[in-house]
Amino acid sequence: MTRKRFDAAVVGAGPGGTTCARELERLGVKTVLLDKADFPRQKLCAGWITPDVMADLGFVPSDYPYGIKRFDRINFHINHVKIPVRTRQYSIRRYEFDHWLLQRVKTPFYRHTVRRIREKNGGFEIDDRFFARYIIGAGGTNCPVFRQFFKNKSPRREKSLIVTMEKEYRTEFPDRQCHLWFFVNNLPGYAWYVPKINGYLNIGIGGKAFRMNKRGDSIQYHFAAFLDMLEQKGMITARPEGGKGYAYYLRHPDIRTRIGNALIIGDSAGLATRDMGEGIGPAVKSGILAARSIALNRPFTLASVNRFSLPQLVWSGLRP
Ligand SMILES: Cc1cc2nc3c(=O)[nH]c(=O)nc-3n(C[C@H](O)[C@H](O)[C@H](O)COP(=O)(O)OP(=O)(O)OC[C@H]3O[C@@H](n4cnc5c(N)ncnc54)[C@H](O)[C@@H]3O)c2cc1C
Repeated sequence: MTRKRFDAAVVGAGPGGTTCARELERLGVKTVLLDKADFPRQKLCAGWITPDVMADLGFVPSDYPYGIKRFDRINFHINHVKIPVRTRQYSIRRYEFDHWLLQRVKTPFYRHTVRRIREKNGGFEIDDRFFARYIIGAGGTNCPVFRQFFKNKSPRREKSLIVTMEKEYRTEFPDRQCHLWFFVNNLPGYAWYVPKINGYLNIGIGGKAFRMNKRGDSIQYHFAAFLDMLEQKGMITARPEGGKGYAYYLRHPDIRTRIGNALIIGDSAGLATRDMGEGIGPAVKSGILAARSIALNRPFTLASVNRFSLPQLVWSGLRP
C-alpha cells in the first residue's frame, strides 16, 4: 500500500495538536493531523481558559463564534472562608472550542486511530498508512507516541496523577459566578462550579489519586458529597444524572519531551499546572514550541510553559 508522506505527523487534535499543526503549517512544514474521534467530540473539561491561552491562539473574545463567558472575579473557598479574587478569566465549552480550533487548521486531517508506529527509513511509519520524518504525540494521557517512545525512558510520576469527575449540563442555576472549593470534604484537590454561556453549567472535582487511594476514598464518593453540598447551598436546582471521570498528570520537574524526532506535548507529556491542573494553556504553548523546534531546528524546552496558574490568575486582575 502506498503511504501518504509528510514531514510531520501530529497524533491528536485537541488544543495541543491543532495548535502545533497550525504553527508547523505556518512555518512551511508539510503536516498531517490525525485523531481517532469525529469532531465535534466530547472532552471532559471545565472549559476555563486564560487570557494567555487566547493570546497564544491569536484571538479575542469577539472572534469566537460560539459562547464565551467572562469572569472578572473568581470565588475561592478554603475551609469555609470565601476569598473573592479579582481576575480576568473565561469559560468555553470544549465541544465547541476544540472543533473551532480544528476548523482553523489547514493541514490535512484524517479520522484515524493510531495503533502501530514503526521507526523506519529515517522516519515513522504509522499503521502502514502514513509516513513522516517527525512525529508529535498530542494524544492526551493515553497517547500512543508517549507509550511507544517515552514511557520507559521518561516515565510519569504516579504522585502527579489526578483523577477527576465532572458533569456539564444545561440547567437553571441561580449563581452566575465561578466558585472553587479547595480541600472540601477532605478532597486532596479542589471542586469547581463554572457557569457557561447559553445555560450550561460545569461542576466537577479533581484530586491526587495516590492520596485518595491511601485513604481508601473514591472519586465517586467525593463527587456525590460535592453534589450534596451544592444542593444544600441552593446552587443547583436539579441534581444531574451520572458524571464522568478522566485522569491526567500534573507537571513534574524532569519531563523529557523530545527523543530524536519524536516529540510529546500537552497531556501526553503531563504538563498541567501543579496548583490548579490547568492543561489547555500548557498544551497550546508546548504545541507552538514543539513546532518551532522542528521547523527552526531549536531545542524543545518547557522553560516558558507555566508550572503554576495562580500567579497569572491574580496578575490578570491587576492589569488595567
Ligand atoms: C474534568 C477535567 C476538567 C478540566 N478542566 C480544565 C480547565 O478548566 N482548564 C484547563 O486549562 N484544563 C482543564 N483540564 C485539563 C485539560 O482538559 C487538558 O489538559 C487538555 O485538554 C490537554 O490538551 P491536549 O491537546 O494535550 O489533549 P486532549 O485535549 O486530551 O486531546 C487529545 C486528542 O487525542 C486523540 N487521541 C487519543 N488517542 C489517539 C490515538 N490513538 N489516535 C488518534 N487520536 C488519538 C483524542 O481523541 C483527543 O482528541 C481538565 C481536565 C479534566 C479531565
